[in-house]
Amino acid sequence: MSENSKEIEKVCRKPKWKDCVSRESYEKSREEFKTLQIIVKRLIADLHREAPEKYPDNCTICHGDNGGVKGNENIIDGIVMCDYCHADRMK
Ligand SMILES: [Zn+2]
Repeated sequence: MSENSKEIEKVCRKPKWKDCVSRESYEKSREEFKTLQIIVKRLIADLHREAPEKYPDNCTICHGDNGGVKGNENIIDGIVMCDYCHADRMK
């Protein structure tokens, strides 16, 4: 997972029942969390559309952490992976 995704995950942490003082605040936190997730997903989609070359590829092994180019993924043995993970596999 890339640093950005980690940050987003941290900020958008799913509310936990034990962190909330009441059922109402828990429900409210959950609603806010859902809204935030939708906003973040839209923002990420916008970024990908505007500058696809800067954002993670669809590698199912490193999820873009190795810096593979989006659209350049390979399907090896039925697994989508970037050039770097492919190279690792060939070692
Ligand atoms: Zn990869």
